[in-house]
Amino acid sequence: MPQVITTDSKSEAIRADGYIITVDLDKCISAGPCSIAAPLTFLLRDSDGKAIISDPDGDTLEAVMEAARSCPILAIIIKDKTGKTIFP
Ligand code: SF4
Repeated sequence: MPQVITTDSKSEAIRADGYIITVDLDKCISAGPCSIAAPLTFLLRDSDGKAIISDPDGDTLEAVMEAARSCPILAIIIKDKTGKTIFP
């Protein structure tokens, strides 16, 4: 099971394909479309509705990219395995 690190300010995990997903929890406004585009990756937590990563390998990379694109305030950051930001 991949490790997900969630702190007050972010939820972050590395996918099996090497891509790194980060949700900026300071920015997240609990809008929710990320959890529709990639429902197995992003979970809106009960406490405040912010998106935390539940399973970084739950959806395809394309679905995760679509989730990142759907976030109205660009709170989801995707990096490739070299650490280069590919979105936003
Ligand atoms: S789409 Fe963006 S603002 Fe909305 S819950 Fe997901 S990360 Fe948060």
